[in-house]
Amino acid sequence: MTSVATRLTLLASRPDATTSSPQGASCSSALAEQPWDFPAPLAQGYGPGASQEDAVPAGSPAQPTIPQRYRDATPEQLDAMIRAAKQSLGERTVVMGHFYQRDEIVAHADFIGDSFQLAQQAKAHPEAEAIVFCGVHFMAETADILSTAEQAVILPNPAAGCSMADMADEDSVEECWADLVDTLGPHATAEDGTVLTDEHGEPLASVIPVTYMNSSAALKAFCGRNGGIVCTSSNAATVLKWAFARGQRVLFFPDQHLGRNTAKAMGVPLAQMPLWNPRKPLGGNSAEQLRDARVILWHGFCSVHRRFTVAQIEQARAEHPGCTVVVHPECPMEVVDAADSAGSTDHIRKAVAAAEPGQTFAIGTEINMVNRLAAEHPEHTIFCLDPVICPCSTMYRIHPGYLAWVLEELVEGRVVNQVSVQSDVAEDASVALERMLAAVPCA
Ligand code: SF4
Repeated sequence: MTSVATRLTLLASRPDATTSSPQGASCSSALAEQPWDFPAPLAQGYGPGASQEDAVPAGSPAQPTIPQRYRDATPEQLDAMIRAAKQSLGERTVVMGHFYQRDEIVAHADFIGDSFQLAQQAKAHPEAEAIVFCGVHFMAETADILSTAEQAVILPNPAAGCSMADMADEDSVEECWADLVDTLGPHATAEDGTVLTDEHGEPLASVIPVTYMNSSAALKAFCGRNGGIVCTSSNAATVLKWAFARGQRVLFFPDQHLGRNTAKAMGVPLAQMPLWNPRKPLGGNSAEQLRDARVILWHGFCSVHRRFTVAQIEQARAEHPGCTVVVHPECPMEVVDAADSAGSTDHIRKAVAAAEPGQTFAIGTEINMVNRLAAEHPEHTIFCLDPVICPCSTMYRIHPGYLAWVLEELVEGRVVNQVSVQSDVAEDASVALERMLAAVPCA
């Protein structure tokens, strides 16, 4: 077990890792050195790491101070506390670990996966009284929606939000929606104003809302109420086809990159994908641009995946001729276009697992996952495209001290940090999630 303070120095998996990116950016190690200071730095931003320049919405959940003994414990002591508490709880508790979590957390996870795989695991284990979700807030919300009413979903540190999810709040999306309905009307129309209909003669909607799984439960509920749907990075194309069968356009939030990369691969011209900036009238577009749009992209992004660049790909190929570049679709379009392939965390894992031994992979996704892949596949050379190693700073807030605390509280019969989605919100969000589950890929 490594200490928290030294952990970041071990994150540099690139064989030739340097200390600065082509843009001269740097990644502070302060988050790893001092995990207890939140929520105080929240006023300035998400904290050291990839998301440091983004604003944290007012009223974001914070973590009160936990008992000193967890703060003073060594990594070995925390590891022992977690193991003992898990053993005592047995099958009453399951621990979920997202791919982007640090190894000290993943070591204790009963299930490891992406946000949707973990939510499905939550659904598949109704016998567990408590689901301890080592991920970020929107993931715990989804697990709560999909699990039974009797189960408690626990986020070890509620300050573990997601900067991308926070870029689309409910009020801004409701305002955008009102503007779009005002401008476009409720139904799809031809140039002469005729209402367009589907194969059953039903009017097509003028716009269908699609939210990425990385969004609040309130936005999933918004989609449920307004004929919309949820997507993941694995099924975004299937979901967009579902939406185009029911509407003339799509409003895609919060991640512009996943929306753009997916729609572009489906043949939607870039000129028909305007960006919606919630701070500008009509999102910064003319009514004409919105009428011509096929996919209206919310101005959101993942701070971790936005760091990847074409220059990094060129550098990787120059230094490792023949390497395979695989990136996540939350990366900017130019990066996805320049890569050998792009896909979800599951796609990346499968691409590595399926390769003949002796391959070299340059991966564009969160560093904890890249390092784990490298450890699991010693037959390959695997490194992160970004030479400056920044973990997802909000995922990183799930420190083993918080995990030990919530588990020991459970042993004492106390549920702390429960994430509970209001029942009416959960009901509407379930509608959008169920539509996603029912959407079948087109042949
Ligand atoms: S990696 Fe990006 S999208 Fe995922 S939790 Fe972190 S900030 Fe959010």
